[in-house]
Amino acid sequence: MKAALVGTDGTLLHEARRATGRERGPDAVVETILAFAADLRAHGQEHFGESAVAAGVAVPGIVDAGKGIAVYAANLGWRDVPLRTLLGERLGGIPVALGHDVRTGGLAEGRIGAGRGADRFLFVPLGTGIAGAIGIAGAIEAGAHGYAGEIGHIVVRPDGPDCGCGQRGCLETLASASAVTRAWAAACGDPGADAADCAKAVESGDPAAIGVWRNAVDALAVGLVTALTLLDPRTLIIGGGLAEAGETLFTPLRAAVEERVTFQKLPHIVPAALGDTAGCLGAGLLAWDLLATEVSA
Ligand SMILES: [Zn+2]
Repeated sequence: MKAALVGTDGTLLHEARRATGRERGPDAVVETILAFAADLRAHGQEHFGESAVAAGVAVPGIVDAGKGIAVYAANLGWRDVPLRTLLGERLGGIPVALGHDVRTGGLAEGRIGAGRGADRFLFVPLGTGIAGAIGIAGAIEAGAHGYAGEIGHIVVRPDGPDCGCGQRGCLETLASASAVTRAWAAACGDPGADAADCAKAVESGDPAAIGVWRNAVDALAVGLVTALTLLDPRTLIIGGGLAEAGETLFTPLRAAVEERVTFQKLPHIVPAALGDTAGCLGAGLLAWDLLATEVSA
């Protein structure tokens, strides 16, 4: 896990990383978070002469931000962890904000990263899976039940591969970094080859790689056009491992999206700018937002 002390203007004052300890079970992860936060607070006291005035934390899975509860996270074995209360107790009663990892990263990309200045944006990280964060007027739309933005489970090929969610042909089974890795490993016969190797092979003109890449880009364009038809974002921010391919991804992706739209307005399609610090910075923004609301209330 990644953590940071963040200044009022979003500046990173101090960054740290620590293993989650998840091999020791769900409670160990919670304890790691609490201890990590307490250590960070102590670091602030020692090096900046004052301790943090609020805390933000972003976690995977299903999050009830209003109640401050991590409702469910399959990879951590969590159910109904009252993280906000636990952190508040460990940090001497300072206000604590809880957010969902992708939506929190999206908040940072939209406000201080690649979408800076855009009133409406969509952040789509292409990693192990595909998720999304819908940015509206400086905040992220979570939906009525905390599921908004799950673009990775838009069905783009009804007869496509089975997805862990129970549907078939979901976008993330075709265009995530993992999906490209699987397709390229099978196509080139090297079980160790991954999506980055595929991108390199595309750049050197390998026809098999170009085929794998085109399939992923086409699927991605179909999913993105569905999303932009619904949301009309000004900026579409693409992040995650697959976006590291740069123009090898963005040039054909922009063309594939443009080819498919008819009446819809084309958004700016740009790479994410904050990399893997987006979650940290976003958690910091959530904490500052919380203070701003408390002051105005
Ligand atoms: Zn799915």
